[in-house]
Amino acid sequence: MNAKRIPGHVERVGLFGGTFDPVHLGHLILAEAALEELDLDRIIFIPAGVSPFKQDHPPGASPEARLAMLRLATADEPRFSVDDRELRRNGPSYTIETVRSLLGDHPGVRFLFLIGADNLADLPNWHEIGELMNLVDFAVLDRGKGGDAVAACGFPVVRRRIDLSSTEIRDRAARGLSIRFMVPEQVYELIMTQAPYRPASSHGHL
Ligand code: ATP
Repeated sequence: MNAKRIPGHVERVGLFGGTFDPVHLGHLILAEAALEELDLDRIIFIPAGVSPFKQDHPPGASPEARLAMLRLATADEPRFSVDDRELRRNGPSYTIETVRSLLGDHPGVRFLFLIGADNLADLPNWHEIGELMNLVDFAVLDRGKGGDAVAACGFPVVRRRIDLSSTEIRDRAARGLSIRFMVPEQVYELIMTQAPYRPASSHGHL
């Protein structure tokens, strides 16, 4: 239950980072499940900067297009917002830097950092992980059956099996196959009109 109006309530805010290339219904379903299951007041979506020097990254939409799609996808839900600070930096940023900067802008809130189950194994190696764990709580987004790392982590888990990925959507869009029911309508319209995933288009063309 949302306890926002109770005096002394500390606002609980989920931080949902991702490439969102593009945002799809899986992300939105999962975010809504996180609101409910983790008793969050709201969620901030944080599109990640991707280094232009990362050679193995598949062709995708420009940062501007990823941001525009995320804004369209979240516009109708007042508990969702988008923060573009990682896109305004050059290249990828450390989570600890993002969290420190967000805490400066949102004093007095409790942040829950939503981490994909795939990233759990690497968590101990994150930059300044000890300090990061002092600043935020973690919760796991699990798109599969869990597994040992999820069971052992001790964090709350939000689990949804939704067979959708940005990779498949980019591939289908590039091949001219339908993605109509995989993304929100406004995102679909943007992809159809601006064609960020067509092979001929590349970063920075939007
Ligand atoms: P890509 O296919 O490009 O790797 P993605 O669909 O996994 O992209 P991301 O932007 O990397 O999307 O996702 C951000 C977070 O959302 C990750 O933690 C990821 O695990 C989670 N997520 C994405 N799609 C789903 C899904 N269908 N079900 C559950 N979790 C998902």
